[in-house]
Amino acid sequence: MTATITGLRTFDIRFPTSADLAGSDAMNPDPDYSAAYVVIETDAPDFLAGHGFAFTIGRGNDIQTTAIDALSSYVVGRPVDATLADLGELWKALVHDSQLRWLGPEKGVMHMAISAVVNALWDLRAKRAGKPLWRLLAELPPEEIVELVDFRYLTDALTPGEALEILRRAEPGRVARTESLLRNGYPGYATSPGWLGYDDDKLARLCERAVADGFTQIKLKVGADLEDDRRRMRIARKVVGPGVRIAIDANQRWDVGAAIAWVRELAEFDPWWVEEPTSPDDVLGHATIARAIAPVKVATGEHVQNRVVFKQLLQTGAISYLQLDAARVAGVNENVAILLLAAKFGVPVCPHAGGVGLCELVQHLSMFDYVAVSGSLENRVIEYVDHLHEHFVDPVTMRCGNYVAPVAPGFSATMRQESLDAYAYPDGPMWRVR
Ligand SMILES: [Mg+2]
Repeated sequence: MTATITGLRTFDIRFPTSADLAGSDAMNPDPDYSAAYVVIETDAPDFLAGHGFAFTIGRGNDIQTTAIDALSSYVVGRPVDATLADLGELWKALVHDSQLRWLGPEKGVMHMAISAVVNALWDLRAKRAGKPLWRLLAELPPEEIVELVDFRYLTDALTPGEALEILRRAEPGRVARTESLLRNGYPGYATSPGWLGYDDDKLARLCERAVADGFTQIKLKVGADLEDDRRRMRIARKVVGPGVRIAIDANQRWDVGAAIAWVRELAEFDPWWVEEPTSPDDVLGHATIARAIAPVKVATGEHVQNRVVFKQLLQTGAISYLQLDAARVAGVNENVAILLLAAKFGVPVCPHAGGVGLCELVQHLSMFDYVAVSGSLENRVIEYVDHLHEHFVDPVTMRCGNYVAPVAPGFSATMRQESLDAYAYPDGPMWRVR
């Protein structure tokens, strides 16, 4: 009997994180971390389900959920095996839907909805294969990985032939790097000390704890008030010492000139990179900032809407670190394209994480990159934020500042049923009592 995809169900899940200022930065003072969550169901023989989500920060999560529902006809009623065997084709069908495409194209709510669906299908495929997603991807033949990517708009920077060459070059070391990952994990860095809403004592305490936990890089939110930033950078640098990298993150707060001036004011504290200094759409602005603030480096990506903008950021030398996001571009397939682009340009990928469930997802992409694409850990770190992991069935595990390689089958995207029930918005018990 051939299994069929029988349903696509969505859930508006919100966590009241604004209550304790976790996640606060210069542009987002009071986020309620949320997931527009999707479950793709199948029937016999195994009744497995694929789980995925788009991450939002509260209001609008209902719109995001509705956008995911709009994709239902692309999956429901289809045979499971044939669908999962050619996710490259399905990706193209979803992204190039001639009517839904008008809502982007390839950006924003609709693109994030596709991300949720595509990632849920990859979760399902990995569960059926009995492997964690990073391992499933890293064991695919190079030709099959290339087939996952839509090269439309990319071929002036990366052709299918070049992508194949990158993957073939990495092939001989796959086994050794897989073993090394299973043994040592993948380096992370800590964002939790530096939320803008925390007072100086809490900042110092959390910096100290991050170093004690084995992290060699932390990140501070900046951009609201220069004198505050100078004071907070001084405290952080004093606590962590000269050997720990301190990245700063402005969350798009500045115009180009202001970014340059502000970063120069903080240069004496030796910031490692400045993240999202200005609008994520301003490719040339990032390039101007990068030239002006060197040797401080520019990083961006969590709000970069698609592979085309990443291509331009790389072509113009605007970024030294590429911060892909697991759920903003259209899921695994587009992120495979972005990893290949980064490898072509020799730019390290240091993914955006945190939010709800983004650490869980993105670890798989970085580990796949290490085993099968870039083959390198040099200057590569995955963001780590220590909240909301308890809502996941297979949460990330950290050891000495490193992500432990997940071994459970799937994409680590499955949320606990109790959490789905408790935080359902607006009728779940956690919202009704507020
Ligand atoms: Mg950021």
